[in-house]
Amino acid sequence: MPASPPSREDLCGSTIMIKGTFPIQRFKEIETPFYYYDTKVLRETLDTIREELRNNTNYEMHYAIKANANPKILRIISAAGFGADCVSGGEVRAAIEAGFPANKVVFAGVGKSDREINLALDYDIHCFNVESEAELLIINELAAQKDKVARIALRINPNIGAHTHSNITTGLAENKFGINLEQIEGVIEQAIALPHIDFEGIHFHIGSQILDMIDFVALCNRINELTEVFARRCYPIRSINVGGGLGIDYGHPNHKYIPDFHSYFDVFRKHLHLSQGQTLHFELGRSVVAQCGSLISRVLYIKEGTCKRFAIIDGSMTELIRPALYQAYHRIENISSDEPEMTYDVVGPVCESSDVFGKAVDLNATHRGDFIAIRSAGAYGEIMASQYNCHELPKGYLSDELI
Ligand SMILES: *Cc1c(COP(=O)(O)O)cnc(C)c1O
Repeated sequence: MPASPPSREDLCGSTIMIKGTFPIQRFKEIETPFYYYDTKVLRETLDTIREELRNNTNYEMHYAIKANANPKILRIISAAGFGADCVSGGEVRAAIEAGFPANKVVFAGVGKSDREINLALDYDIHCFNVESEAELLIINELAAQKDKVARIALRINPNIGAHTHSNITTGLAENKFGINLEQIEGVIEQAIALPHIDFEGIHFHIGSQILDMIDFVALCNRINELTEVFARRCYPIRSINVGGGLGIDYGHPNHKYIPDFHSYFDVFRKHLHLSQGQTLHFELGRSVVAQCGSLISRVLYIKEGTCKRFAIIDGSMTELIRPALYQAYHRIENISSDEPEMTYDVVGPVCESSDVFGKAVDLNATHRGDFIAIRSAGAYGEIMASQYNCHELPKGYLSDELI
């Protein structure tokens, strides 16, 4: 995630800047900052995933709601036939309201409250991804009170490090997520024995923004080792859920906007051994929605410092926190100007020195009122917006609405 900005040559093979296409005339009627979602990009991404999975009828995709829960985006994804992966009761409700069928909803999270568990039981969701023995016992108890049987998968911490930012790795033994390898057999035995629990299978999620397929190969190898042991113990594993985490190319939102789903799914087709009747579940978030979204801001001021030039825009870390939180790189374009490029630090108005979108960014010469697009912001953007400094939450517009 803390990627260094790609070089100019790396970006376009020349010094001509390739930009996204935006309905700038319509943008003039809208208050900035706002999120703009290109539904053509989203639909093409969804079609690519569906095409990849066409011949793997035992593979199921659950979109990870936490990446972007804009109801209009959720509707498009549910209409494409995907399931949903949720990490809170609020997300379970958002998924159901957006048309995801309850029998395709899975619910993970280390700290599910009783209220959230009851809500998911009432909806009869497909599966709880359980992260501790303590949680397993509570779900059994709450299901008993409703005279129901809860389907659960156990989230296993595979002790695999993904080569990514330390704040977004989740699969190491020291992380709070999942059940450790030493403890898993005891918890499986318990899950099988509990009367209001239906043990469905095992769940993993090793991190986010993973671009090195070696990490997913390592996950497959670890799962194969485990399922071999489990088969000898005669544990009935109906499903294996490998989580999400496929990364995107933040440097190339214009000509590499479809993530490499083929290489990703091929890792599992080639390396993961499934037994007869087992289903394989995926929970991709970022790779589904990141490239369709941009944060659109207006330039407020150009400030000439002693050794720097600042473009101060009306968008800030309250709309898109990833640069401030993870030092994440986002490509920045001045979509109003064709003038020769100059170099700017692009900053927001919030009273935090981390409210910076990019340092020493080459933009076409920039003036007050120009539109600035911060690209690849469809995932972990709008949903992480805050009201810090009493900012209003940003609105999101689909390209379909602005034609
Ligand atoms: C966040 C999360 C995902 C999605 O991760 P991406 O990196 O956005 O693909 C999937 N599963 C679980 C359990 C998660 O917490």
